[in-house]
Amino acid sequence: MDYTDFAKKSKELYEKAKKFLPAGVTYLIRHIEPYPFYVTKAKGSRIWDVDGNEYTDYWMAHGAAVLGHGYEPIIEAIKEQLEYGIHFGWCNEWEIRWAEAVCGWFDMDKVRPTNSGTEANMYAIRLARAYTGRRKVGKFAGGWHGGYDGLHKAVTYPYDKPASLGLTDCVQNDIVVLPYNDLEGVYDRVKNEELAAIIVEPVLGAGGAIPAERDFLKGLRELCDERGIVLIFDEVITGFRFYKGARYYYNVKPDIITAGKAVGGQYFPGAGALCGIEEIMELLDHTKRKNFWERAFHGGTYTGNALTMRAGYVLISELERRRNEVYPYLDSLGEEFMKKLEEVFNDYNVEALVTGISSMIGFHFTKAKKLNPEEISKYRNAELMAKCHRHMLNNKIVYLSQQSPHLFISIAHTREDVEDFTRAMEEFLKNIK
Ligand code: PMP
Repeated sequence: MDYTDFAKKSKELYEKAKKFLPAGVTYLIRHIEPYPFYVTKAKGSRIWDVDGNEYTDYWMAHGAAVLGHGYEPIIEAIKEQLEYGIHFGWCNEWEIRWAEAVCGWFDMDKVRPTNSGTEANMYAIRLARAYTGRRKVGKFAGGWHGGYDGLHKAVTYPYDKPASLGLTDCVQNDIVVLPYNDLEGVYDRVKNEELAAIIVEPVLGAGGAIPAERDFLKGLRELCDERGIVLIFDEVITGFRFYKGARYYYNVKPDIITAGKAVGGQYFPGAGALCGIEEIMELLDHTKRKNFWERAFHGGTYTGNALTMRAGYVLISELERRRNEVYPYLDSLGEEFMKKLEEVFNDYNVEALVTGISSMIGFHFTKAKKLNPEEISKYRNAELMAKCHRHMLNNKIVYLSQQSPHLFISIAHTREDVEDFTRAMEEFLKNIK
């Protein structure tokens, strides 16, 4: 059956949405062809739309829901918190529990909550500049750190085009674009630059679930040590998809870790964390730095709200309590998923690259052979990617984005879900032959 036959109410809603929301959506990434479906309920690995359709979700709240939608211990804690209050604008005990849990998780000295991943990165760059007294920042082609002007460059291929209208040259010129998984290229690019920071996703998320090669992150650490550059790991996605973050998996300690999404308990806004070593975080300490011009500013109305802090704290407690179950499960299911996809692509002889690691999975119809976002995008078969997305949608299997899929699995996903996905993929490939 075709999507347009079973998602009729969604079409009506979309017609109305277009009147009030630009392009009819709240975020362009949520626009899917031919029109989005409207979700009424989510539980585990499933979502339901206004027409009553049940879908298997591989987007999982932008990757935030590692433990699945509607995870009971978090929901229960939040129901209780609602009785006490959500946002006080005063200090509360949950912010301390959250901060201790986050510092323990990432092995960092101090942390401040932020309202989003974007905001965490914005403050991280500010801190790096404050700490080094330098201006320029290195970020990777294909890397995504949120819509902050100071990092909004070379996100989508072709990287030489402005990533958005409305960006000013003076901000753009402070961003030095670096090649991912290419240490020699990075050295070459920075040799004549004085960088305050290098910010990197240990696994490119929006760029298509492309993991850093092991030596790459180690090499970046060495480069930053040699040149006095602050190394920032953007762990907005990876932070809770690996036990204690990708920083532990790769065994490389950055100076700052930024987190988002799950750090606020998977479902709640005000989800961000700016974590760092003492020497850097101390720049925020107004009790030591009495004059405002001698410290860096961070703040925000909803930062540290009790609801998000409590949800984030419960999430980390649950991940610690269930670590021997959660992470081996995600690792093995993810591995099986990637293996099965590779087998199907081989069986049908399609030019495709399966990328990913553990619970982050990507697949790309591309001629590229290298784990490099530029190559993957440059040689992408966009038409086939779009057709595949539609075929999956017709089969009530959903993932984003249409052109650069980065699928997320949670502990609620099962081996049967993975088999269904690969079966649907097989059917798709059979029919395009
Ligand atoms: N960094 C990374 C790696 C991300 O994937 C995202 C969001 N997808 C962000 C930063 C921005 O986070 P937020 O949407 O919470 O602002």
